[in-house]
Amino acid sequence: MLDFDTCNTARLKRDATFDGVFFIGVKTTGIYCRPVCPARQPLTKNVAFYPSAPAAEVAGLRPCLRCRPDTAPFCPAWIGTKSSVNRALTLIKEGALDMGNVTQLAERLGIGPRQLARLFKQHVGATPIQTAQTFRVQRAKNLLSDTTQTMAQIAFESGFKSVRRFNAVFLKLYGRPPSSIRRTKRINSGD
Ligand SMILES: [Zn+2]
Repeated sequence: MLDFDTCNTARLKRDATFDGVFFIGVKTTGIYCRPVCPARQPLTKNVAFYPSAPAAEVAGLRPCLRCRPDTAPFCPAWIGTKSSVNRALTLIKEGALDMGNVTQLAERLGIGPRQLARLFKQHVGATPIQTAQTFRVQRAKNLLSDTTQTMAQIAFESGFKSVRRFNAVFLKLYGRPPSSIRRTKRINSGD
């Protein structure tokens, strides 16, 4: 992955030679773009860079409807593997690794577990297990802010095996316990 300044200079110039080399995530809108996107350019403090479209999606971003970073034909190697990676991401999002394991997931995709691991390393920048973890935390975060369910209900509904595990993973990723998200929200909403 290129360094931040190189990516930032390239995206401010809309440099087409970097199209497909990196993707721009916009923290304020939750959308990711290609360097050539014609939309208004976000402030530097609001952007993050990703090596691939799946990597941006794992980070919780949605593809921009103007530059379509999820469909553009970048490199030939990507076209062949794209459907496998996207399908794996969809299955993981739906809970394939909450109920089953990586070998079973690979079988459903018609590839070997080692090939699946390689594709994830190359295109997602995380293992399938780490990816499943990310999706679990995203699910939990939505439930924390959108529902009044208990911590135990949220942990299990999000795909965690225990509340303890849920707390540990959440704390590691956000640096604070899940209960703090809800408390902040209550204070903000004034009840
Ligand atoms: Zn865009």
